[in-house]
Formats: sequence, C-alpha cells, structure tokens
Amino acid sequence: MEEFVKQAVLEGFDSYGISSHAPLPFSTRWTLEQSEVGEYLAEIDRLKTAYRNRIELYAGLEIDYLDDNHNPASAYFQSLPLDYRIGSVHLLHSPQGDIIDIDTSPETFRTNLEQSLGGDLKQVVSRYYDKLMRMVSRGGFDIVGHADKLSFNASFVSPGITRESWYRDTIQAYFELIARKGLMVEINTKKYLSHGVFFPQREHFATLLRLGIPVVVNSDSHRPEAINSGRQAALEALSASGFREVMELHDGQWISVPIEL
Ligand SMILES: [Zn+2]
Repeated sequence: MEEFVKQAVLEGFDSYGISSHAPLPFSTRWTLEQSEVGEYLAEIDRLKTAYRNRIELYAGLEIDYLDDNHNPASAYFQSLPLDYRIGSVHLLHSPQGDIIDIDTSPETFRTNLEQSLGGDLKQVVSRYYDKLMRMVSRGGFDIVGHADKLSFNASFVSPGITRESWYRDTIQAYFELIARKGLMVEINTKKYLSHGVFFPQREHFATLLRLGIPVVVNSDSHRPEAINSGRQAALEALSASGFREVMELHDGQWISVPIEL
C-alpha cells in the first residue's frame, strides 16, 4: 500500500483513498481474508501518520453484495472503522448454486455463461441489475462501484445489447433508485487506457447529471503506476456531459470540487 501512497504523492494527489476488496465468506485470490483486515487497517493508519504532511489518506473497502447475509450493510462491515465504503457486485449464483465471477475476461465470461450461468444472457444481465438494486436498497455504503461493469462482457457476447429497450429501462430504474438513496457513483477508469470505456459507460453521464447523482473519479487500480490512469479523460468526458464538479474526501468530509481541465 505504501507504493500506492508514494505514487499518489508523486502524481500530486492531495487526498487518496485505499479500498481493497473486502473479505468474502470464502477464500479468493482477489480479496482480503477476514483475518487480515486488522493488519490492513493498521497499515493504513500507519501511512496516514507517516505521510500526514504530504497527503490525506483514507481507509476504504470495496464490499461485495453477495446475498442478504453478506453485503455492505452487514453488521461486520458496519462495525469497521472505515472512512468510506464502496458497494459492488462481482459474483452471481448459478442455477446450481455455484458462485460465478462475472468480472472476468470477456472470453471467460462467455464460457461461464454457457457452462454455468444457464446460457441466457438477457436473464443473466437482468439478475445482475436485480442484485445491484437490492444492494442499493439495502445501503450501508457511500459509492456504487463500477455501476454497469457487466455491460462490457455482455456487449462482447451480444454487441448492441446495451441499446435494447429493456436494458435501457433497467439501467434507468437502477440510476433512479441510486438517486433516491442519495448515493455517489464512481466513474471507474480501470479500462479506459486499454479499451476507451468508463463504468458507468459515458452514455449514462447525462442521466447521472439529470438525476443529481454526485460522482467520484476512481482508478480501480491494482497497480501503483495506474492510480491516475484515465482520470483526466474522465474529467473531460464528465465536463462534456455538463458536469461542473466531482466529489472528493477532504478533512474527512465528502465535498464537491470544481472540475479543472
Ligand atoms: Zn470491483
């Protein structure tokens, strides 16, 4: 984590948050173990102090909405001394009850769709947004993570799916619920450099603005050298869509900061 913080200082950030993947009720290669959370938070605390004259640091977690029992609103996650929480969906249950990661390469997603998820893309996409709607309804977090991430893999399997009327109606209802719940949406830049896309896709930026949803630009970077990747492009795209400000954490408060290009 210190490598990320050093890079943030180097890139001129004046505040920076770290949000590792929160523990799941089973081990994965991409999440913290629950037994590691204490050490994780202690290390961020150490960094906050060590770098306090150079940068404001914040402790977050990106928490999966897995099911009714394991999600950002769970007592365990609510009890942790975090500065912010991101709510995300990466996993869907197969008809057989297996847990399938849908945030994979497009090729892997297509294989999983056929072999594990029942083969009906529209149904899988609908279940994905149903789950996100349950996550938003349940709450317990500040920021919706990569709000329409599945659009990338779904479009690989079925180009044009995001322009179909049922998809547009679904995502519209989802954003309306996010607005009613007063949540922020991240503009996730992880795939901008490689594929020129943001999550949510930029075609939705005008909807976010119209609904009054505050946005925060996040790199979702898993490497220190990528923490600023796509940020400028995201700010330009937001500005072109009419946004004049983005949210940032300063002095422990979320404040809106003018977009300066
Ligand atoms: Zn994620």
